[in-house]
Amino acid sequence: MSPPPGGSAASPARPARVVVIGAGVIGCSVALQVARAGARVALVEGAPAPGSGTTATTDAWINANAKRPYDYFRLSVRAVAAHRRLASEMEGGPWLLRTGCLEWATDGDDRARLEERARELEGWGYGVRRLSPSWVMRELEPDVLLPGGVDQVFFYPDECLAFPQLYLAHVLRACRSLGVELALGTPVREVVVGSGRARGVRLDDGARIAADVVVSCAGRWTPDLLAPLGVEVPLVSPAEPGSPALGFLVSTSPIAADVRRRLSCPEINLRPDGGGRLQLQGKREEREVRLDTPTTPLPPQAQRLVAKARGLLRHSAAMRAQAAMIGIRPLPADGLPVVGWAPSVEGLYVVVTHSGVTLAPLIGELASAEVAGGEQELLKPYRPSRFAPGSRLR
Ligand SMILES: Cc1cc2nc3c(=O)[nH]c(=O)nc-3n(C[C@H](O)[C@H](O)[C@H](O)COP(=O)(O)OP(=O)(O)OC[C@H]3O[C@@H](n4cnc5c(N)ncnc54)[C@H](O)[C@@H]3O)c2cc1C
Repeated sequence: MSPPPGGSAASPARPARVVVIGAGVIGCSVALQVARAGARVALVEGAPAPGSGTTATTDAWINANAKRPYDYFRLSVRAVAAHRRLASEMEGGPWLLRTGCLEWATDGDDRARLEERARELEGWGYGVRRLSPSWVMRELEPDVLLPGGVDQVFFYPDECLAFPQLYLAHVLRACRSLGVELALGTPVREVVVGSGRARGVRLDDGARIAADVVVSCAGRWTPDLLAPLGVEVPLVSPAEPGSPALGFLVSTSPIAADVRRRLSCPEINLRPDGGGRLQLQGKREEREVRLDTPTTPLPPQAQRLVAKARGLLRHSAAMRAQAAMIGIRPLPADGLPVVGWAPSVEGLYVVVTHSGVTLAPLIGELASAEVAGGEQELLKPYRPSRFAPGSRLR
């Protein structure tokens, strides 16, 4: 059978058996929605625990703030709403902190850049408020010490933060109640293909799981899994110095400072991380670390980030860095999500994206609808076929 226009090889309508590869934030979300749609689902994870890939090392800021072009912004706005929708179905969504986010700049160029972005976001209907520093310190974040050069603070009231492991716990509980089989510590060695169509997966121990549709949600390991099938999904390499695929995060000791929302500051991003801890992300530090930078003992970048955070907060003298993490973003080569049928293997659906925590509930819904046979308008710009040999986007 030849692929339909757009180069995609679709699946039969309403597959009975679906294998989802990878139990990160994306795979768990897809498994849930596919199971809700009535299919029998096996969710297969190579690591001993779910959420041990990039989902374990993320800022988990739920937003559409800096998403360009407009189509991607629109997808992300819908994704923020999908988190709220799922939360309302699951005990109010204890994984979601709905306090909005704050951002400010101290230097003239950065202030102009933020203002320009705010105007564009307002033009697109995104919630943006401009607040005075004194009001922010009085009403929103009483333990934050805003530096002198800040003339206004941007508040994005609809943005959220997620606690990804809590999200997974709720989604997996719902998966289990729908009969999803969760296989942990069982890496998929290969997607089994017969007569040009995915027939299931073979595990490292040789066992085979048959399926009508295979959904690859393998995050940064996607090229390893799919390249042998001739499916190209190029990701930005984290190996180059300063690679945008590389992230650096520090988790602090619990402190008395009450930080209620994500703060995007000129040199550092801070977020509450539960139990009085903060998670810190430094722009300069992120560019300095390498894939092989040791995280124990803590690298100097961790101490530097904590010193910067102390300068921004009351009651933070006792703050210490407790853990440093190098994260690898599953960042497609053109920066945009990859979602859809693989161009050359029928019945193989692929999802890999940066900003996956933001997008997970929505992509779960949309991908499930496509696996069941419908085409989703919102996903059209993100097809894997754009990387296929001969595609004009290559
Ligand atoms: C520093 C940093 C900050 C970030 N900040 C944000 C943010 O603020 N907001 C946001 O939305 N996103 C953010 N992201 C991105 C986001 O975290 C990721 O997009 C998301 O976690 C990807 O989820 P995933 O499920 O696709 O991948 P993963 O969590 O990596 O899951 C993939 C899973 O597949 C499994 N797997 C791979 N190969 C196989 C195989 N052959 N067999 C079986 N299992 C396999 C892996 O073990 C893994 O568990 C950030 C990322 C980083 C690194």
